[in-house]
Amino acid sequence: MTQTVLIKGGIVVTMDAGERVVDGDVLVRDGRIEGVGVELGSADETIDARGCAVLPGFVQTHIHLCQTLFRGSADDLELIDWLKQRVWPMEAAHDARSIRASARLGVAEMMRGGTTCALTMETVRHTEEVFRVVEETGFRATVGKCMMDMGEGVPFELSEKAEDSIEQSLALLEKWHGRGEGRIHYCFAPRFAVSCTRELLVRVARLARERGVMIHTHASENRSEIELVMRETGMRNIEYLDSVGVCGPHVLLAHCVHLSEGEMLLLADAGTHVAHCPSSNLKLGSGIAPVAELLERGISVSLGADGAPCNNRLDMFTEMRTAALLQKVSRGAQVLPARRALRMATLDGARALGLESEIGSLETGKRADITILDLERLHLSPRPDVVSTIVYAAEAQDVRTVLIDGRVVLRDGELTTLNLREVIEEAREQHGLLTARAGIN
Ligand SMILES: [Zn+2]
Repeated sequence: MTQTVLIKGGIVVTMDAGERVVDGDVLVRDGRIEGVGVELGSADETIDARGCAVLPGFVQTHIHLCQTLFRGSADDLELIDWLKQRVWPMEAAHDARSIRASARLGVAEMMRGGTTCALTMETVRHTEEVFRVVEETGFRATVGKCMMDMGEGVPFELSEKAEDSIEQSLALLEKWHGRGEGRIHYCFAPRFAVSCTRELLVRVARLARERGVMIHTHASENRSEIELVMRETGMRNIEYLDSVGVCGPHVLLAHCVHLSEGEMLLLADAGTHVAHCPSSNLKLGSGIAPVAELLERGISVSLGADGAPCNNRLDMFTEMRTAALLQKVSRGAQVLPARRALRMATLDGARALGLESEIGSLETGKRADITILDLERLHLSPRPDVVSTIVYAAEAQDVRTVLIDGRVVLRDGELTTLNLREVIEEAREQHGLLTARAGIN
């Protein structure tokens, strides 16, 4: 049965090639955008968007849904200590129920804040549960099982052999890639060079090309991590990843805070994408990523919150604003204007996931992933430029309604595919059980 939705009378921020802002309507038919303009007629359902901005749903390109339950349990630590003392023990203590609670909490928070798609790196086990949550909730996601077959201080439950890691990844790929009416994608997710053997990375690089799926990993987030890679391989991190074939337009590297000029050239030449996570970089004391330099070299940069224990929000408004402000501190106030930050949060995110023909802008023919933002707020008034308002002034709580694939997943601030109270209670209960298992208070 044909289902049409008319989003009527909003300020439509299209993020199309002309970055047009149109006063008018968006018509959705069977999950796709049928038109953007004025007086598009009637539909089965009409959403009144007067006094609202209508924009593409945010695409977060670096998240860990399995870590949402660790929010507030790993504060004030630098990366390697953060991993060894807190995050790895908690990931090791996960069972199917706690992962499920963690993913539901993360998806609920992201949908509530206007994020409609995320790339999420999970932990070593129970990734299946995350796929189920994405399928059930109507969220759009690219999901990868974390791969790690070496490393000092890795708990027993997180260590695996390269062979098993690949076999399990391929089984998940076969089962889930393309599911949820095409909303779900698989990616290979080796954790980072420090926790993967060369053999594993070489095989992942080959398999990703053969199967036509992405590779997502962390790279050059922290100086000690870079030193560890240098000691192990004699190369800088990006040079090493390049040498094993982890580079190219199907590869998305999270962080890239500390890069040499040569490494930036490698990223630009290969067309490798970077996911910038400004709040996480600040909270773990990692540094300020050279985003302006990357953009000047034509390198694709998109945004993500990273996991809840290093942020502690999963909120794209925070990331857009922080990304823009940080570049102003390091490079000058004119750098990374609001329009560019919004593009990084939408169309450039879609591009990084290879989904730019489907999502990332409001254009006829694209899937209807749409965020509707209430502008009638004190802190959003006045608003001479709606893009400036969205990037510099708006907050997650200003999001009123969200559609993914044409389905309303948030209506007037209420989630439609998840029960908020249940999600919060389940998270509290599972957090208690998990930290007890992990021996962390
Ligand atoms: Zn991460």
